[in-house]
Amino acid sequence: MKNEKMYDIDFNRPTIVGKELFYISQAIHEGHSAGDAAFTKKCHAYLEQALQVPRVLLTTSCTHALEMSALLLDIQPGDEVIVPSFTFVSTPNAFVLRGAKPVFVDIRPDTLNMDETKLEQLITERTRAIVPVHYAGVGCEMDTICAIASKYNIPIVEDNAHGLFGKYKGRYLGTFGTFATQSFHETKNFICGEGGALIINDSRCIERAEIIREKGTNRSRFFRGQVDKYTWVDIGSSFLISDLLAAFLYAQLEARDEIQAKRQKIWHYYNDHLQDWAEGKGVQLPTVPAHCEQSYHMFYMLLPSLEYRQALISHLKARGILAVFHYLPLNLSDMGRKYGGRAGDCPVTEDVSDRLLRLPFYNDLEEADLACVVQAIKEFDPWYSPLAS
Ligand SMILES: *Cc1c(COP(=O)(O)O)cnc(C)c1O
Repeated sequence: MKNEKMYDIDFNRPTIVGKELFYISQAIHEGHSAGDAAFTKKCHAYLEQALQVPRVLLTTSCTHALEMSALLLDIQPGDEVIVPSFTFVSTPNAFVLRGAKPVFVDIRPDTLNMDETKLEQLITERTRAIVPVHYAGVGCEMDTICAIASKYNIPIVEDNAHGLFGKYKGRYLGTFGTFATQSFHETKNFICGEGGALIINDSRCIERAEIIREKGTNRSRFFRGQVDKYTWVDIGSSFLISDLLAAFLYAQLEARDEIQAKRQKIWHYYNDHLQDWAEGKGVQLPTVPAHCEQSYHMFYMLLPSLEYRQALISHLKARGILAVFHYLPLNLSDMGRKYGGRAGDCPVTEDVSDRLLRLPFYNDLEEADLACVVQAIKEFDPWYSPLAS
């Protein structure tokens, strides 16, 4: 069965669950497709209620929600922001855009989250924010991170792109930081193509967040009848999502239980069926500490070596199964090096980045597909496969 394609299983496939198209047409028929119309308000109310947070504002992306956080924190040139070295570029970029210097903290070898034991030594006079990323929707060690942040009076911004509805010690991810950011990009649990949200946990920041999101105007207050005209009052930009996309998103949020149940099933299928194989091969499956309820965002494995991973990717690809690696160490990227990043700064990230493989993961994966993936993995023998040479 050399290079013969046997299955066709994508890594990700955006799926709709229910009323997405109906709600989009409803938004069009009602004549409101710009931002902050009926469906945006429904999404805000849904998320505020579900997470019990003071304010949620939908944005065009998680990247933009991170940029809003940097504006709200008045990040200035020369400020330092601590971010994990194993994350998406937007986590540091949003702050770098304001002139900040990213300071990379290595990750834990078990959860692949920011290593909280290495955090305090990176804090300086110039540190203005700590940005934990809840990798794969498993909570960072927030007790320690919050304690360090409050000791030095440094705000936390949670990049919670993976972790919507995950919990740390019974408390929702996204409710710990001054701000938290969500993504509704088509690769995330809840989607609308491109979209995001800023969660504001400090009520004192709500009004300024509304202004920054509305091009620096007090238009939100005007619409609530709190001022009789709106005008330019601060810096800002256009961070509002179209109500057509909010309509898409609202249908997804309404199907929260269905979506999360499907993803939970997929995650456990992989975990249960790969356990023995992984033990035999020295492969590490995801660690979810007992005090964390994960969001079932992805399933990854840590393979014994880079060569092993590349050979397994090829082996699966030959069978029509797309499995992919993930973040490259940011400290070793072109931009990271400009800010002083060097090889060896973040040894766990540098090691894990080479060995991590993500398996196909999307809501509509059937059990038969999952069985194919698992079987194909078990058939892989790196030392005898013709693809390994
Ligand atoms: C997807 C992702 C982002 C960016 O989300 P967008 O909505 O595409 O801007 C940021 N951070 C992390 C950790 C992500 O996974």
